[in-house]
Amino acid sequence: DHLINQIAAGEVVERPASVVKELLENAVDAGASRIDIDLEQGGIKRIRIRDNGCGIPKDELSLALSRHATSKISSLEDLEQVRSLGFRGEALPSIASVARLTLSSCYQEAEQGWSLVANSANPSPEPAAHATGTTVEVYDLFFNVPARRKFLKTEKTELSHIEEAVRKLALSRFDISFHLRHNQKTLLQLNSASNRVASERRLAEICGEPFVQQSQYLEHEASGLRLWGWVALPTFSRSQADLQYFYVNQRAVRDRLIAHAVRQAYQDVLYQGRHPAFVLYLEIEPQLVDVNAHPTKHEVRFREGRLIHDFIFHTLHQLLAELRP
Ligand code: ADP
Ligand code: MG
Repeated sequence: DHLINQIAAGEVVERPASVVKELLENAVDAGASRIDIDLEQGGIKRIRIRDNGCGIPKDELSLALSRHATSKISSLEDLEQVRSLGFRGEALPSIASVARLTLSSCYQEAEQGWSLVANSANPSPEPAAHATGTTVEVYDLFFNVPARRKFLKTEKTELSHIEEAVRKLALSRFDISFHLRHNQKTLLQLNSASNRVASERRLAEICGEPFVQQSQYLEHEASGLRLWGWVALPTFSRSQADLQYFYVNQRAVRDRLIAHAVRQAYQDVLYQGRHPAFVLYLEIEPQLVDVNAHPTKHEVRFREGRLIHDFIFHTLHQLLAELRP
């Protein structure tokens, strides 16, 4: 069983940032409105993620650490309705198989919290002081998998991957507060945002003030599809890495069809040879998209690919044409 978990971990846990991503998604699924991320040494030494979500009942703590025991999917129809970010029930057991992990939680209806150390000889919950919600601590990533530990990069590099994972998730949920600290130092403090002004403040924290100043907000709805977000104006130029965030139903995706539609719209109008910058959100019926294409879930499959491609292309094309200097 331990071996199976370690093999699964190979797919799910590549580096500290993958642990952070999985734990953040669990916190979001638990309905948290506030998530605190504390790191040491680029997350290699320690990752601690605390949320104020619904918590885990005492007798489900050990279940949460066993493979697929918690899978939220029980039928193919379910799969088509997936709204939560997690649904395979393999992240926690995978992480626990390649690191030391402690799960502490207080269920919303419980009077006190409980804590469980994964992989201990005789795992049983101990009473723990904890407000409603959950804390997962992950120490010494890959302590038992030297081959993988060897491939970890410097603290700085691993940290930058974690920061990107946090930014990506924080852009998907403006209603959740995020606090990211590394070696006791605050790196990101994002308060929940419920209107456009506050959202653009968060956008500025994450993508930089110039992007907010030099981008256009858009919102367009047609044939059951809705696209909204921000696209950079031609004046915006970015020297560093690409600033391209695309979300489908609040899930960050990297998809060739979408990338193509966006690129076409930009190329046709004004961005010849330059990388477009954007933060865009597509909302569609969950039945029209399969999010189960890959374990790390960056990829999606659309049932009406052509329709979605053309919708994105035409929406952006029209907007960009209007913005043409
Ligand atoms: P998945 O997210 O795919 O269901 P995970 O291994 O990530 O699987 O988590 C296992 C289960 O543990 C979840 O389904 C959930 O029931 C519970 N869980 C994990 N993290 C949290 C959390 N932060 N708050 C509440 N429940 C959690
Ligand atoms: Mg999960």
